[in-house]
Amino acid sequence: MTYDTIIIGLGAMGGAAAYQLAKRGRRVLGLERHTPAHDRGSSHGQSRIIRRAYMEGPEYVPLILRAYELWEDLERESGADLLTITGGLMIGAPDSQAVRGSIRSAEAYGLYHEVLDAATIRRRFPPLHVPSDAIALYERKAGFLRPEASVEAHLRRAAELGAELHFEEPALAWEASPSGDGVRVVTVRGSYEAERLIIAPGAWAPTLLADLGIPFSIERQVLFWFAPRDGTTPFAPDRFPIYIWETDAETAFYGFPAQEGPPGGVKVAFHTGGTPTDAETIRRDVAPEEVTAIRDIIAPRIPALDGELLATATCMYTKVPDEHFVIGMHPRHPQVVVASPCSGHGFKFASVIGEILADLADQGRAALPIGFFNPTRFGG
Ligand SMILES: Cc1cc2nc3c(=O)[nH]c(=O)nc-3n(C[C@H](O)[C@H](O)[C@H](O)COP(=O)(O)OP(=O)(O)OC[C@H]3O[C@@H](n4cnc5c(N)ncnc54)[C@H](O)[C@@H]3O)c2cc1C
Repeated sequence: MTYDTIIIGLGAMGGAAAYQLAKRGRRVLGLERHTPAHDRGSSHGQSRIIRRAYMEGPEYVPLILRAYELWEDLERESGADLLTITGGLMIGAPDSQAVRGSIRSAEAYGLYHEVLDAATIRRRFPPLHVPSDAIALYERKAGFLRPEASVEAHLRRAAELGAELHFEEPALAWEASPSGDGVRVVTVRGSYEAERLIIAPGAWAPTLLADLGIPFSIERQVLFWFAPRDGTTPFAPDRFPIYIWETDAETAFYGFPAQEGPPGGVKVAFHTGGTPTDAETIRRDVAPEEVTAIRDIIAPRIPALDGELLATATCMYTKVPDEHFVIGMHPRHPQVVVASPCSGHGFKFASVIGEILADLADQGRAALPIGFFNPTRFGG
């Protein structure tokens, strides 16, 4: 059978694209190296921050507004609990990216926000011991997504809508016909043809998208779950927000309220300082020095969190130098769409990126403004 679109990689982005295309009645074949919603890539670990006053740039705001709508649609359609709104704090010095960048986006789009001084933050969110020279943007609509459940919901709905999804079937090679029509993908099990191809390989981008010459770097990041000293009540999602805390120009960490279900406790992680790695050889165990580093940053700032370490997990950021995403048509093959929306902040957009990738596969252009993700911007 010939398909309309083949998708390589059924993680956060490929799964969302499969769903959107199946919903449009396209014949979709999805190929995934691992099992559904696995923990070997970039889309696992119980929680992902979602926020609107986007510190990385106001150009993301139209995308995030649509992402919220699509997450809510997916929740309704799948019956799954994916999104929890908790409010969110972007904490730092007044001239930090966290504060300045998020205020800029909020003002550019008239988004509801408050700017809180340190005393107000401590009064409203007692676990956070913010130093007196820091401030924060607070937004009510921020919160977290459940990544495994979100990936599963996209995949389940895609299959129900007729997409053919093959797991544990890595794609080995792809080729695009020089006429600009048609692609062929070879996997460990066979060879498939389609009119279009979407490549959404996550941390495997340096191999699968090698021909584009994009300076990708893969970073290993560790997630930590701690048991709060006095129980999880002060960290309950109805009173404790998600936060990103820039402690100096090079260092930021972030965290979540307490979540139901294993591993329990409260999750925190560094956003900066990841170590270079590779999708196949990444070190999965966590060194004692890494635990010490996160405890050192937490102890003075969120002292109630400094209890027993309950669990750790490792995850990969696929970064490019400007820390934006890579999404667009392949510069030499108009029938191929490439998608590496990560740089450590892509998950919240997966729902809208699915729609964008479906537009690109269908029409070669997206309805939403994505020029700043152009795959050719690095010169390659
Ligand atoms: C620790 C951590 C914390 C993060 N926190 C946030 C956050 O709070 N908020 C936020 O918005 N974002 C966050 N992110 C970023 C976000 O999770 C990623 O941007 C997003 O998960 C990337 O999705 P993806 O589809 O590109 O990659 P993945 O979901 O990893 O999917 C890629 C898929 O391609 C498959 N694949 C690769 N090669 C092949 C092949 N040859 N054949 C078949 N399949 C293949 C892989 O197995 C994988 O399933 C975080 C990331 C990490 C690691």
